[in-house]
Amino acid sequence: MAGMSFFIDTTRCTACRGCQIACKNWNQNGASMTKNLGSHQNPPDLDANTFKLVRFSESEVNGKPVWYFFADQCRHCLEPPCMDAIAGYVDGGVIHDEETGAVVYTDKSKEAPIDDVREACPYDIPRAREDGRIVKCTMCLDRVKNGLIPACVKVCPTQAMNFGTRESMLELAQKRLADLKAKYPKAQLLNPQEVRVIYLVVDDPTKYHSHAVASLGSGIDRKLALRRLFKPAKTMARALTLG
Ligand code: SF4
Ligand code: SF4
Repeated sequence: MAGMSFFIDTTRCTACRGCQIACKNWNQNGASMTKNLGSHQNPPDLDANTFKLVRFSESEVNGKPVWYFFADQCRHCLEPPCMDAIAGYVDGGVIHDEETGAVVYTDKSKEAPIDDVREACPYDIPRAREDGRIVKCTMCLDRVKNGLIPACVKVCPTQAMNFGTRESMLELAQKRLADLKAKYPKAQLLNPQEVRVIYLVVDDPTKYHSHAVASLGSGIDRKLALRRLFKPAKTMARALTLG
């Protein structure tokens, strides 16, 4: 499955937050109660109503202050660890779309505990609604299946957000990286072979966000593997009880 990908060029981002608002708008997600914490980043973190968040980070380079902007979202991992975590509790809690590679949670995801799913994600993305349903970016699969691009990409005025076939996005990312390398020796793509949302940064990724780059190796850890192994027995026991 080649599928689709995003390329997010952080050097072009002006932190206008158009992508954040477009995401809320398309997903009909309400506002979250928040307060001024002394940063332009608002709300302070991803939440059940915020699938896309422009993170602001102040740093110092050569004695001068710089702001790094990072339009954070689900990376639509090629082998999503969150899917394994949910599958350890319930079948059909996640759809891994064959055509695009999008990772989309269903209502059944509420049967999996959010703490385990969040722990499995190397980028700390999933959040839970009050009814327990786990949510995050869907790649605007409804738009993409109808020939449109994701809402966040549509509104981005600077071409920081890009979307297309995986091949075309990898090509664009490599080209932009090559262009920037001379000026920014630390320029790099973040986990390009593991994710469908490829970020380009020009400094240490952790200066942008603590989970900008994968904090764990992709794949399932021992705890998840054991849960999967014993799930059939648990499911059978539940069926016998109900029967
Ligand atoms: S980034 Fe996290 S939530 Fe998104 S597909 Fe990967 S593991 Fe799942
Ligand atoms: S819409 Fe584009 S420029 Fe504006 S915050 Fe999002 S990624 Fe940055």
